[in-house]
This record gives sequence, structure tokens and C-alpha cells, in this order.
Amino acid sequence: MAQNPIQFQKGLSLQEFMTHYGREALYVEALEQWRWPQGFVCPSCGHGGVPVRLRTRALLQCRHCHHQTSVTAGTIFEATKLPLTTWFLACSC
Ligand SMILES: [Zn+2]
Repeated sequence: MAQNPIQFQKGLSLQEFMTHYGREALYVEALEQWRWPQGFVCPSCGHGGVPVRLRTRALLQCRHCHHQTSVTAGTIFEATKLPLTTWFLACSC
């Protein structure tokens, strides 16, 4: 009897599934909304407005002073190597 290779492909863990299918971006967006509910405010100069979103790294750059920051900088998630999906799962338990 022939085996269907799709049936025996390696599966994804819940964490891998959530990371690969866009949930991470939703958590980043939620964290941004919690951190800057009135819109982005530069932690260096206090200038508001829409920041530049760097394409190569998950950083926001102030249009006024060019300071680069991330949504996790200055939060409990700052030094983590884990994706936010892991932390949000841990916080929801
Ligand atoms: Zn600034």
C-alpha cells in the first residue's frame, strides 16, 4: 500500500504554528497599542508622529531625531530571545 508523503510530514508545535502564521505580528501590534495608546512617542526626544518602520529589523525610528527603538525596549520583554507569542501564552495561563 502506497504511503502519502503529506500524511507523514513533520508537524508543527503550537508555538511554531503561531509564529509562522502571523500571530506574532498581531502581538507586536497589541503591545504597540498598549505602550503608545495615543500613537508612537519617541523615548529619546518625546516627539510623536508616525515612526519609520525599518524593513530589516523590527525597529521603529523617530522621524525627528532618528532614534531607533523596538516595541519591547524598556518593557519586561526587552531582553527576551523568545517570540511574544510564547510570552502571551504564558501570561494567559
Ligand atoms: Zn526622537
